[in-house]
Amino acid sequence: MRIDAHQHFWRYDPGEFPWLDDTMAAQRRDFLPANLAPILARRHFRCSIAVQARMNLAETDWLLQLARENPRRIRGVVGWVPLSEPARAAAELDRHLASRERNNDHGLVGVRHVVQGQPPGFLDAPDFNAGIREVTARGLAYDLLIHANQLDEAIRFVDRHPAQTFVLDHIGKPPIAPDEPPPEAWAVSICKLACRENVSCKFSALTTEVRAPGHEWTPKLLRPYFDTVLTAFGPRRLMFGSDWPVCLAGTTYERWHRFVITCTTPLSSHERASIFGETAIRAYKLPVSIMELRELKAEFQTEKNELQTLKSKIQTLKSELQTLASTPET
Ligand SMILES: [Zn+2]
Repeated sequence: MRIDAHQHFWRYDPGEFPWLDDTMAAQRRDFLPANLAPILARRHFRCSIAVQARMNLAETDWLLQLARENPRRIRGVVGWVPLSEPARAAAELDRHLASRERNNDHGLVGVRHVVQGQPPGFLDAPDFNAGIREVTARGLAYDLLIHANQLDEAIRFVDRHPAQTFVLDHIGKPPIAPDEPPPEAWAVSICKLACRENVSCKFSALTTEVRAPGHEWTPKLLRPYFDTVLTAFGPRRLMFGSDWPVCLAGTTYERWHRFVITCTTPLSSHERASIFGETAIRAYKLPVSIMELRELKAEFQTEKNELQTLKSKIQTLKSELQTLASTPET
């Protein structure tokens, strides 16, 4: 029951995806549930959360339609509604929630607005804040998509909405320079934001933030970013996201997943179950059965047991080798 808490689907249209520039030429095609399903299966993920990529009502309807058609694979949708027009936003949210009730399906679980790139003070606007109050009133999550220089504005915003569940996307998109540690200003703001208990964080999409032409990400470069958000948020408020297919510009699904597994290896099986599923279940109030929850915990316990067996086998082999080495040749 592992969950990829952040991925996108789209039918490519050049007019609607201007941000897919030449560095992302390979993503200028359709990415649909049938493309993701074998990848999730190979990496032992049961399902994912589909997140909006365009700010229009039609896309959210389409994602919800995909979720209805693929109920096992898409466990929820983070969509878009016009939050700066609170009355319209409220009507849209009610329409989606009524449909979820009617169809008993995995519908809208959160809302996101592309705030990155907006002018300073965007999150302070009264209308946008009134829109968020409509989200809070309906018990849905809100995904914060911002750049690191908007973190302090985001903290003010979060403080105005203590009853709202927030999810910080892509650890707040810090600028990542090769051979340099995480920026101090980002780390300080992350710690401040993490003091707000109603905020969780997605460890996702970092490979595309490495801002140096010709430089590839490495596990060594990104590990301190993981350690910072793990310390700040703790495993109970941290979740894995692939950001597929956007991630394909800088890595593969497999490589990113393997990296996060390595980061989480020192953690307990409970902590790993949080990062790979439970945090998303809590933040997005996902419809999950007790059986699925048990399964999630058991998977990581089994993995831990297997790891311990492997370790003791290695230990036995080592001592056998030592014995062999100390035995005089005849
Ligand atoms: Zn994304």
